[in-house]
Amino acid sequence: IVIVSLLFATWITYLVYRWQKMSASMRSQIMNGIKQLEFIPFYQPIVDSRTQKVIGCEVLMRWQRQDGSLMPPNQFIPYAEDKGLIVEMTKVLLQHVLNDIEKLAGKREALFFSVNIVPEHLDNDNLYQLLKSVVDSGQLKQHRISLEITERLPISDLVAARKMLDKFYAIGIDLKLDDAGTGYGGFSYVQNLGISTLKIDKMFVDTIGHEDNFNAKTIEAIISFAQKSGLSIIAEGVEDNKQVAYLSQHGVHLIQGYVYSKPLPAKQFFH
Ligand code: C2E
Ligand code: CA
Ligand code: CA
Ligand code: CA
Repeated sequence: IVIVSLLFATWITYLVYRWQKMSASMRSQIMNGIKQLEFIPFYQPIVDSRTQKVIGCEVLMRWQRQDGSLMPPNQFIPYAEDKGLIVEMTKVLLQHVLNDIEKLAGKREALFFSVNIVPEHLDNDNLYQLLKSVVDSGQLKQHRISLEITERLPISDLVAARKMLDKFYAIGIDLKLDDAGTGYGGFSYVQNLGISTLKIDKMFVDTIGHEDNFNAKTIEAIISFAQKSGLSIIAEGVEDNKQVAYLSQHGVHLIQGYVYSKPLPAKQFFH
C-alpha cells in the first residue's frame, strides 16, 4: 500500500508539474502574441432579414500564430479571461479593427462593429479613453463601435459599471447583452446597465422547430421580455431559413449566423 500510494503521489506531482509548465508557456506565448500583434479580428455580418442588408458585424478574435496557423477562440480565450490577459489582447484586436476601418474609408454604408468585452474592461477608464480618442479623431467615418458583454461573467459592482458605461453611451457607443438567457446576470443587467440589445444565444435558436423542448419556451420568453423592455434583438447562430422565418414571425429581424455568413477575414468582409 505504501509503495502504491507513493507511486500515486509521484504521478500526481508529475501531472501538476506538467500542467503548470503548460500553462506557464501558454502565458508567455500569449504575452509574446500581444507584442507581435497576433490577435486579429474576423468579422461576422449581422443582416436585416427584411432587406437582406448587412447592418453591422461582430468582431471575433483569432490568434494568428507565427507559423501562419489560426487558433480559434475556444482554445485560448477562456485561459486569457481567467488570467487577466484578455484586456491587453482586446487592445491589439482593436488596433487591427481600426486599421481595417481606416482602409475601408467611405466605401460602405454605415456599419456597427460589435466588440466583445469582459467586466474587467469596466474597472477603469482605459478602454473608454482609447475609444473616445478614436471617436474624437473622426477615423471611424460613418461607422460606429458597439460593445457586447456576456451574461456568463459576473459583474461585482453594477453601480460602478453603469457609471463607466454612461461615459461610453455619451460618445455613441452602446452595449449589447451577449448569451442572453444562459447566465445569471440577465434581468439585473438589463435593469441596471442600460443595455440596448439582447443577443439570443445559439442554444435557444437551435430549439426552433423542436417546440416540445423546454428551451423553445425560453426563446419565446426572451423575445417577449426584450420587446416589452424596448430592447433590440439579434439572433445568433442562425443556420437555416426555417429559423429565419420563425424569428421573423416573432418580430426578430436582425440575424447573425451561417445562414448568411461565417465570420470572415478582413479581406473578405471589406472586399
Ligand atoms: P460569442 O461571443 O457567442 O460569438 C458567437 C460564436 O458563434 C462565434 O464563435 C461564431 O463564429 C459562432 N457562430 C455564429 N453563427 C454561427 C452559426 O450559425 N453556427 C455555428 N455553429 N456557430 C456560429 P467563435 O468565433 O469561435 O467565438 C467563440 C467565443 O469566443 C465567442 O462566443 C466569445 O465568447 C469568445 N470570443 C471571441 N472573440 C472574443 C473577444 O475578442 N473577446 C472576448 N472576451 N471573447 C471573445
Ligand atoms: Ca459575442
Ligand atoms: Ca454570443
Ligand atoms: Ca454564445
